[in-house]
Amino acid sequence: MRSPIPDYLNQVLDTCGADGSGELAAYIPELAEADPDRFALALATVDGTVYGVGDDEVEFSIQSISKPFAYALALAQHGLDRVLEKVGVEPSGDAFNELSLEVDTGRPLNPMINAGALTVHALIDDETVRRGFSAFAGRELEVDEEVFTSELETADRNRAIAFMLRSHGIVEEDAQEVVEGYTRQCSVLVTVRDLALMAATLANGGVQPVTGQRVVPHEVTRQVMAVMATCGMYDAAGDWFSSVGIPAKSGVAGGLIGALPGQAGLATFSPRLDRHGNSVRGVQVFERLSRDMGMHLMEVPPPARSLVRGRTALPGGRPGHGWTYELQGSVNFVGMERVLRYLADEPPTESTVVLDLTRVHEVRDIGRRMLIEAVRRLVLDGHQVTIVDPEDMLEAFPDDHADGDLDAGDGVAVPVLRRR
Ligand code: GLU
Repeated sequence: MRSPIPDYLNQVLDTCGADGSGELAAYIPELAEADPDRFALALATVDGTVYGVGDDEVEFSIQSISKPFAYALALAQHGLDRVLEKVGVEPSGDAFNELSLEVDTGRPLNPMINAGALTVHALIDDETVRRGFSAFAGRELEVDEEVFTSELETADRNRAIAFMLRSHGIVEEDAQEVVEGYTRQCSVLVTVRDLALMAATLANGGVQPVTGQRVVPHEVTRQVMAVMATCGMYDAAGDWFSSVGIPAKSGVAGGLIGALPGQAGLATFSPRLDRHGNSVRGVQVFERLSRDMGMHLMEVPPPARSLVRGRTALPGGRPGHGWTYELQGSVNFVGMERVLRYLADEPPTESTVVLDLTRVHEVRDIGRRMLIEAVRRLVLDGHQVTIVDPEDMLEAFPDDHADGDLDAGDGVAVPVLRRR
């Protein structure tokens, strides 16, 4: 069978391709020369498959889409507290190049506007940027020297911002050098395929889906995607998050990325921009994808069924019966709360209790800790507890074959079996 996904993506390009409205970014001479009709879309899954359609191999400068990745690298290098001292996380509601700083602290409001991005850039060196971006993309990326020179010649506004940051003591480095480095960061050449993989690396918790390299720590990606969700689309961030609901970032060369946590990275390229500086057709594509594929993050999932219980034969061919609780779906906080409530309201009436995880597809850290606490309390109440965990969700097995023990604390060791 031929996968229908590229056909679907091509169809999305066809339907959104007709709109010729919007303007090229004119304030950077080299960008004003771009071919306005270029149009591309790519989707990268967190397990490393990339679908690209249209002009998906055409390179363009990354521009402001560099901001979340530079922010990620700064967070990885310095930690959240140090970075927060310099740059806040509040949406500004202003244009990307506004000379705005927080009134009491002098910090730029967020890392997605230029004031914040210049400050973030000053925290990392050029080599970190080049190597880091390449690691996110999974290939060596290069700078477009023409775009770089062209933008640097007309970068007076960014110079003004950098000098203002220095005057507030937020940036200590040489203002001209910071602008130069930041402009270089914005001139890195990418395709939509690169961008989709860079976004997928964020969506995958910091591990590049194709190379398997851990680029940034897991907690960094949560911070970056949260800031993309609230501040990524310039002064249209609220509009964007309610209609599309995907953490995103746009750039003035016409690129647009979205990172859907745990699922995929998306990227479009179409150079004509709306009055906020976001790609006109890119926004349309994202609206369409979000609607068709149910990608809005605030979409409420169907309620999870978390527990069935009953009296069954004991696992492992042991004689006798036990009171079995069969857990289902995701063992997260809400799922385990229901389990704990059942156990508290209607305690098991037989001394042998079996917790069966055969139909569980995911165990979150909080769910694991709640489950272990439930086990510990059942044992202290005098029950004999056995856990059935064929997929080793609790990571209790010493190797692939043997049954194991779960240390529930207070000297309580609970047998974990592979089979019912
Ligand atoms: N290099 C551009 C600037 O600083 C990036 C702006 C953007 O992509 O929004 O003006």
